[in-house]
Amino acid sequence: MSSFVITVDGPSAAGKGTLARRLAAHFGFAFLDTGALYRGVGLTVLRQGHDPADEKAAIAAAEGLRAEILSDPALRDEATSRAASIVAAIPGVRAALLNWQREFAARPPNSGRGAVLDGRDTGTVVCPGAQAKLFISASVEARALRRFKELEARQLPAGGEKAIYARVLQDMQERDARDQGRSISPTKAPADAKVIDTSDLTADQVFDQALAYVMSKMTA
Ligand code: C5P
Repeated sequence: MSSFVITVDGPSAAGKGTLARRLAAHFGFAFLDTGALYRGVGLTVLRQGHDPADEKAAIAAAEGLRAEILSDPALRDEATSRAASIVAAIPGVRAALLNWQREFAARPPNSGRGAVLDGRDTGTVVCPGAQAKLFISASVEARALRRFKELEARQLPAGGEKAIYARVLQDMQERDARDQGRSISPTKAPADAKVIDTSDLTADQVFDQALAYVMSKMTA
């Protein structure tokens, strides 16, 4: 029996992570945060003292990506976010992470019955044959405000970055431009995706809409 794959794509802080985790828990499916892989590559390059735009260093980091870095608290820092979106535009980095993601979708850990992949290109490039595809978006202001509140609520380590809304908004705009404007795997809704704009919806409303759509695909 092949696994049932749900892809959840969209720009940062649109609410796709929250939704994807909830769908995975609801169906008992394995969950993969593909952004964490790019963040892990970005953080490795920064820690090695390289420029994230240094292709050779970034590809080497992607090929040798270590699982431990995926649970590093610095993965969520804004500096790591910036580095992630820079390394993500390098074709060799994407190629190194592609097979890994496809393998996860085809043979999900735990039950093996299904997988939920959260990212930018999981429905368009990684798993174009996924049975259910969602594209979660929201205005850049709504997304920057959510990210700002998240950063503010976080316990910052000594010497950690302090969040300033204007800075978060500017970073978000720059990251959107990089993610949407790059020639390889730009963030865009798959033609056959269910698009949900979350700007004025609660997390429960987003989940209810997504669940109804996925259920319709399961019984189709
Ligand atoms: O989703 P998250 O903000 O953690 O992703 C970090 C960065 O990784 C994004 O800005 C994007 O450039 C990149 N990314 C990607 N493709 C994915 C997931 C993330 O290019 N499937």
